[in-house]
Amino acid sequence: MLSNSLKSAHLLSLLTEIIQTMSDTNTQTTEKKVISNFIRHIIDEDMSQNKNGGKLITRFPPEPNGYLHIGHAKSICLNFGLAEDYNGMCNLRFDDTNPEKEDSEYIDSIMDDVKWLGYSWAGEVKYASDYFAQLYAYAVQLIKQGQAYVCSLTADEAREYRGSLTQAGKNSPYRDQSVEQNLDLFERMKQGEFNEGERVLRAKIDMASPNINLRDPIIYRIRKVEHHQTGKEWCIYPMYDYTHCVSDALEGITHSLCTLEFEDHRPLYDWVLDQLQTPCHPQQIEFARLNLNYTITSKRKLKQLVDENHINGWDDPRLPTISGLRRRGYTPASIREFSDRIGVTKVDGVVDMGTLEFCIREDLEHTVARAMCVIDPLKVVIESFADDAVEELSAPRHPKDESMGRRSFNMTRVIYIDQSDFEEVPPPKYRRLSVGKEVRLRNSYVIKCHAVIKDEQGKIIELRCTHDTDTLGKKPEGRKVKGVIHWVSEKYSLPAEVRLYDRLFNEENPDDAAKKHEDDNSHFLDFLNPDSLTIMANARAEMSLAGVQAGDSFQFEREGYFTTDKDSTSDKLVFNRTVGLRDSWAKIGSKT
Ligand code: ATP
Ligand code: MG
Repeated sequence: MLSNSLKSAHLLSLLTEIIQTMSDTNTQTTEKKVISNFIRHIIDEDMSQNKNGGKLITRFPPEPNGYLHIGHAKSICLNFGLAEDYNGMCNLRFDDTNPEKEDSEYIDSIMDDVKWLGYSWAGEVKYASDYFAQLYAYAVQLIKQGQAYVCSLTADEAREYRGSLTQAGKNSPYRDQSVEQNLDLFERMKQGEFNEGERVLRAKIDMASPNINLRDPIIYRIRKVEHHQTGKEWCIYPMYDYTHCVSDALEGITHSLCTLEFEDHRPLYDWVLDQLQTPCHPQQIEFARLNLNYTITSKRKLKQLVDENHINGWDDPRLPTISGLRRRGYTPASIREFSDRIGVTKVDGVVDMGTLEFCIREDLEHTVARAMCVIDPLKVVIESFADDAVEELSAPRHPKDESMGRRSFNMTRVIYIDQSDFEEVPPPKYRRLSVGKEVRLRNSYVIKCHAVIKDEQGKIIELRCTHDTDTLGKKPEGRKVKGVIHWVSEKYSLPAEVRLYDRLFNEENPDDAAKKHEDDNSHFLDFLNPDSLTIMANARAEMSLAGVQAGDSFQFEREGYFTTDKDSTSDKLVFNRTVGLRDSWAKIGSKT
């Protein structure tokens, strides 16, 4: 069942790619096409009826309890993208009702991520905590209207009273306290008279409702902790469901977009706003969350990976966090394109990682310079080249974009090629180098290998070759040399470390795989790929890369797309592999 749905998700993404590629080639110069979806249909309909005065105001409401991931990027692109397209506004609002899990480090990173994706929020950044006073006043109003009460059941008792999916709940014995009693108790909760858990404020709705969210949900609880925005001002904090709808209404949000798991909360969203008669009543619309295979999109689990040092921080390039993707070399344009491609639906599914990689490859193909970098060097001595000879060669930075100019590099007697480009016993039709065979050095001469030098363990440590002086920029006389390999001069190249990344998990859906062990929440860790990072510490990069800055990206010819990492020093450049040249998820790993 699972693998079928994954397969169909994969097929779907492939199909989307094919159709998109076909239409891209037909409409290369036309403007960005807007792909409609059910949310746009609703908005179009609302606009045509002049609902909300023809305005659109959305919001992106993260909880500052971790770094944002690619799923949030989908929500950001949706909310800010709609605001752009409909000439509306999108607020950035921190849903900060859980002070003990929140941190201003997260607030800063979230603002950074939204800006990096290329969006700007309307006005000042907003916080649900800005509305604590109003939320409190509204809670008092609910009490006065007989629609909220202070409950003293213990957590265990409350659970028992709540009932189950098949069984109605029972009314709390505190449900019929007088308004005066409730007002007094709520005030004393606020004054800090009770301990955490001793009292809560609950909405009085319906303990027999088939929707458990309506069985007198808690709307305020006691938490004796400092808040990153409000300090020690409060020791009672409003619950998410109550806070969210009120915040939306106070900001005049017209369409409140959230993920499908909130569908069952919508009746509560509407109930609260109906009772309070807020100045406006936003429409909650749910859409499917983004899931990507071979990774996880849950802040809690990402935090666990970070806290337990399974990876190296929130911006580890293996993570699907926005900061990880950015460090990995993803561009804002590629993530926005990805978000457009996957679309917005009401059906949960798993998107293939190949689709995300397709988007970055498409972007970088057109925008980044080419360079040569030998990731796993093998020394080659070209005996026909004089000891001290240096020949300056050059090549375009981009094969199709002359405006990017040319780069130069030196050819010398000792060069490096990649270990994987030589085989002592070549398989049939092998096009790279082997003894007695010729190969072209990219942007340089054709060379022929004569001898192999090995160390005591039998490992090949050096090749002896000669070059054909009549092959620079032209085909060799009377024979065909099909293979082309990349290389760098020993003397004129830069030491580099290349970090190769592979999938973070070995399971397509680590969450589902982990669900088989209900006893423990950390089983998803069992599926971490131990080989998700390979460090190639002795790579050599062509001279033209001297002086590159963190974030500069390249196509290393025949290897893939790489970006310069912030760990680079003046002694050693560090590059992250963003993505290979081909779709490695489809297991087409061969080099050309
Ligand atoms: P997580 O489960 O990772 O903690 P969350 O939903 O608790 O995610 P929030 O900070 O509350 O995280 O999310 C902010 C917004 O981003 C919400 O509107 C939420 O619906 C949306 N969002 C979160 N995860 C996804 C996802 N995987 N796909 C699409 N939207 C998402
Ligand atoms: Mg949340």
